[in-house]
Amino acid sequence: MDLNLGNTLPLEPGTMAGVVGLGVAGRATVRFLLQEGLRLKVCDQRAREQVEQEQPDFLEFLDAEGVYSEFGTHSTAFLDGLDLLVPAPGVPLQSPLVTEARKRQIPLAGELALAAGRFAVPVIAVSGSNGKTTVTGLIGHLLKAAGKRPFVGGNIGTPLLEYCLDPAGYDCVVLELSSFQLDLAGTFRPEVGVLLNITPDHLDRHGSLEAYANSKKRLFAQQQEADVAILGCDDHLVNAVLLNTGVVRFCFGFGEEHACRIEKEGVRLHLSAEEHFFTLADTRLSSSVNRLNAAASILAAKLVGCGNEAIAQGLASFQPPPHRMAEVATINGVTYINDSKATNIGALAAALSGCSCPVVLIAGGRDKGGDYALLQDIVAQKVRQLVLIGEAAPLMEKALGHLVATEYASDMAQAVQAASVAARPGDTVLLAPGCSSFDSFSGYAERGAVFAQAVLALQASGAKQALVGVRSCAR
Ligand code: ADP
Repeated sequence: MDLNLGNTLPLEPGTMAGVVGLGVAGRATVRFLLQEGLRLKVCDQRAREQVEQEQPDFLEFLDAEGVYSEFGTHSTAFLDGLDLLVPAPGVPLQSPLVTEARKRQIPLAGELALAAGRFAVPVIAVSGSNGKTTVTGLIGHLLKAAGKRPFVGGNIGTPLLEYCLDPAGYDCVVLELSSFQLDLAGTFRPEVGVLLNITPDHLDRHGSLEAYANSKKRLFAQQQEADVAILGCDDHLVNAVLLNTGVVRFCFGFGEEHACRIEKEGVRLHLSAEEHFFTLADTRLSSSVNRLNAAASILAAKLVGCGNEAIAQGLASFQPPPHRMAEVATINGVTYINDSKATNIGALAAALSGCSCPVVLIAGGRDKGGDYALLQDIVAQKVRQLVLIGEAAPLMEKALGHLVATEYASDMAQAVQAASVAARPGDTVLLAPGCSSFDSFSGYAERGAVFAQAVLALQASGAKQALVGVRSCAR
């Protein structure tokens, strides 16, 4: 795909740029480009009233700056006179406006391309299908424990361009990067690139697993000699990543051969002929996926000079973000787990792999174009009963329904009720939808909260508490 991404973007004062999408990233882009002295046009597909309701001050700011703005459906005339177009990460590159910009050879840039070359401090960038938020937060936490002052942002929390607007006070940058951001990364170059895994996700937008994997691999495209790639090498697509000459490669995973190896109780690291062991036994990082996340984070922290003691302290005090394998309650010996953030097939598979006893799985939501048949083995192995919700329920039933007892639920409360009837003492009821939440919820957080509410209501309705002597499921 030709993305009109030259090595030199037109960013001189006076250049006319267009910003598409005024979410949190788009607003930071607007402020950054104005600070750089560019002239701007902006557009957003939402109605002006909606944007105004959410961000009254920002629209006033645009008006005060004399920025031309378009809301609702916009014509391709928006592109007239533009020297540069900056679509927000949520704007598909196949949208009519971006397609027309490509036809007109208007250079495209994302926030990474705009920020490229503006870092006076080391940059650690984290991508992958699953675990990005956890790892980005954990690396930031370990660096802070070691006395550093990291800017932590990107696809989580604070947009990267906020750093560019005010870089004082930070001595390193830790970024979570999505495939959408990497698509328009230009010459962005992280000193340390972390690629956790590649499993099908966002195929509705990328078109194929190959295209999606290629977006992820852009993380390393600009790296130079002595830069570092940290790779989850148990994943064959990650292991196959080709690096530029001189880029130093470190692997983590369960394989014996890796420099950073996951063991039952923690992570063993071989670095510069020294061996280090970090226990995860009494931390919130002891699940199999979080041991992987810890391994990637420890490697990154060591490579930017953090000491072992600070890393150990950071691992012990880290609180994983909510809605990821979070235990809600144990009722009648059945443990209820909220993994609402499992919005793709890889995360669903990882959640099931981490459960060692029968699972009643609540799954479904808005389909993202993945192939649920990839889940057949793990579902046959782990799942006692499937309770399906949302738009993707028929697709999931078609791929998996012949393997296990399956039923439909019309909403989350009904799903929890059905799961509680199907579960036996010692089982896990797992919400791991494998789909996005936008068919019925504002996001994964609302979906997880509604699940937790339904579980707590079940508990309050008089269900007996955990049966004595029933072992809970190992995760
Ligand atoms: P992301 O930011 O990539 O979406 P999160 O840390 O928010 O990653 O986790 C998303 C989902 O992936 C959660 O369901 C979580 O339990 C699961 N997960 C976390 N780390 C991993 C990993 N290393 N491999 C597979 N799944 C993971």
